[in-house]
Amino acid sequence: MAAKENLSVVSDEKDDVSKDRPTRDEAEAAIRTLIQWAGDDPAREGLLDTPARVVRAYEEFFNGYSACPKALLERTFEEVDGYDEIVLLRDIRFESHCEHHMAPIIGKAHVAYLPHRRVVGISKLARVVEVYAKRLQIQEKMTAQVANLIDEVLQPKGTAVVIEAAHQCMTTRGVHKSGVTMVTSRMLGAFRDDAATRREFLAMVGNPAAGQSPFV
Ligand SMILES: [Zn+2]
Repeated sequence: MAAKENLSVVSDEKDDVSKDRPTRDEAEAAIRTLIQWAGDDPAREGLLDTPARVVRAYEEFFNGYSACPKALLERTFEEVDGYDEIVLLRDIRFESHCEHHMAPIIGKAHVAYLPHRRVVGISKLARVVEVYAKRLQIQEKMTAQVANLIDEVLQPKGTAVVIEAAHQCMTTRGVHKSGVTMVTSRMLGAFRDDAATRREFLAMVGNPAAGQSPFV
């Protein structure tokens, strides 16, 4: 009885999403339903372990929900010896899933900021991209989330994020347009207000709008 009370206290502390989270068995049952919906027999030998595998894959695809991107940027370095030029991490490959079709989005992000006293380890910038990517996304939202977080936590003179990605919901279904990539950007601070800073950033990135997309 006491244990039961403790459990209910724990679940009250969680947010609404995790409180309503189905069990692993329920998630596997949902995959069996989708297999049947597709027209196959989830009881045939080749498909028996598929629901468990898919659920494990989902844990990997969507592990960004259990991570806090803000915490990644909170450890900063202040000894930069007056460095005040652009810091750019280019070609951060990511895999995400679109929130409309749950189909893969595969692309790369370019993340830059103009430091104001503080810098952060560059691997942390890549981790921020990854945490947001490992959620259900639309590219525009992900671009804004990465830029806004860096701007909020590091408080640099400017932040710029460009994302180029191919959406499999466009290439394997619907309009079936292969080779199409979408480019989104968010420029804040000096990258938005100062044309020379923005030009320098875009030159460093290599003008993604020109359509060079080696990752597709
Ligand atoms: Zn989609």
